[in-house]
Amino acid sequence: MIKKIEDYIPIVGQSAVDDVRLIAEKLKGKVIQNVNSTKNGGGVAEILNNMTPLLQGLGVDARWDVIQGEEHFFSVTKKFHNVLHGRPDEVTQRDFDIFMETSEKNVRAIDITGDIVFVHDPQPIALINKKQNNKWIWRCHIDVSHPHQRVWNFLMDFIVRYDSAVFSAPGFSFKLPIRQFLISPSIDPLSDKNKELSSDEIDAVMYKYGISRKKPIITQISRFDRLKDPLGVIEMYQLVKKYVDCQLILAGGGASDDPEGMEVFAEVKEKAKKDPDIHILLLPQDDITINALQRASTIIVQKSLKEGFGLTVAEGLWKKKPVVASHVGGIPLQITHKHSGMLCYSIQGAAYSVKQLLNSPAYAKRLGENGHEHIKNNFLITRHIKDYILLFLSLFHAGDIVYL
Ligand code: UDP
Repeated sequence: MIKKIEDYIPIVGQSAVDDVRLIAEKLKGKVIQNVNSTKNGGGVAEILNNMTPLLQGLGVDARWDVIQGEEHFFSVTKKFHNVLHGRPDEVTQRDFDIFMETSEKNVRAIDITGDIVFVHDPQPIALINKKQNNKWIWRCHIDVSHPHQRVWNFLMDFIVRYDSAVFSAPGFSFKLPIRQFLISPSIDPLSDKNKELSSDEIDAVMYKYGISRKKPIITQISRFDRLKDPLGVIEMYQLVKKYVDCQLILAGGGASDDPEGMEVFAEVKEKAKKDPDIHILLLPQDDITINALQRASTIIVQKSLKEGFGLTVAEGLWKKKPVVASHVGGIPLQITHKHSGMLCYSIQGAAYSVKQLLNSPAYAKRLGENGHEHIKNNFLITRHIKDYILLFLSLFHAGDIVYL
């Protein structure tokens, strides 16, 4: 079902929706062309899937293109992704050459139709070679607080040619010769991923995956990616399990721009194999399934080693779940420790918080409720759309006051 902005009035109120409608009018006649590297899997695709039709419903000509690449290109971009997040790896001249070869093919193949071209993350960054006199924004969704210098310098040669850059959290900003904006991501409360589900719908998913609801459930939803620390989550669960009989769900699918997923999945399967209370689920892209798993959970965990924002945290909090998550990247924007969730710094710290919450259901419930309010006030799609529209409008008024 295609959602309309009015559908959000019961959640965010009439005036928030009126604001969005009013400023969207000002974009009439402009084409906004998003470009990223995958249609499905991961937070960027999640946001674009929700936002593009909503913008179109507001009368904004929003479009979405995806770059193409072979596995060797995405192995390089995944390596860049890893080293930008501080994982050690050797980056060679050959990697840069592979990146440029595929980028040049995409520069030739993609038709640039946007008055504003909105490029997401490093994979399509070299499309800027196609810039004419339209406006270009580079949207960085990843944690670049301590990037690999050589890769960052390589990207920087492209970044400085954009009109503006957007980061998700204050810690990721840099001294740049272009204007930069801080805009947090968001979740869509009406999407299949986040809408209310009946208990029958939740039960059906649990039945399908053979998971009993008799024992408490700790869940992490993530792509199988080492930066999400799935092995650390299993160790955390094993520490908790010594004291509380519980289950663990580690669930996620792949993304077409993430070729490492199956290797990590195999490692996780191997580590979990002796315990029937650990459920490792390789999922097809199915938002209702993820929604149901989150709703059936007692506690949501996001024990990432690095994180751009961590939409899964917002998704858990929106469902009023107590969330235990790492103090990395954009996660502290979502969780105030001991108020809207628990922040952790280690496997032991996460286990301590999970154990505490399993033993204190009233406290866990309060954290979940506070978390829900915080997400409602700050990280829903209506706020995000408003920020983006203001950003788009500002590009045509560099240095001027924008009168709406
Ligand atoms: N997700 C999904 N299927 C999966 C794993 C993750 O739909 O198998 C979704 C998840 O619910 C969230 C997004 O993908 O909406 C992941 O965003 P996040 O910011 O947590 O991490 P990223 O994958 O972008 O690093």
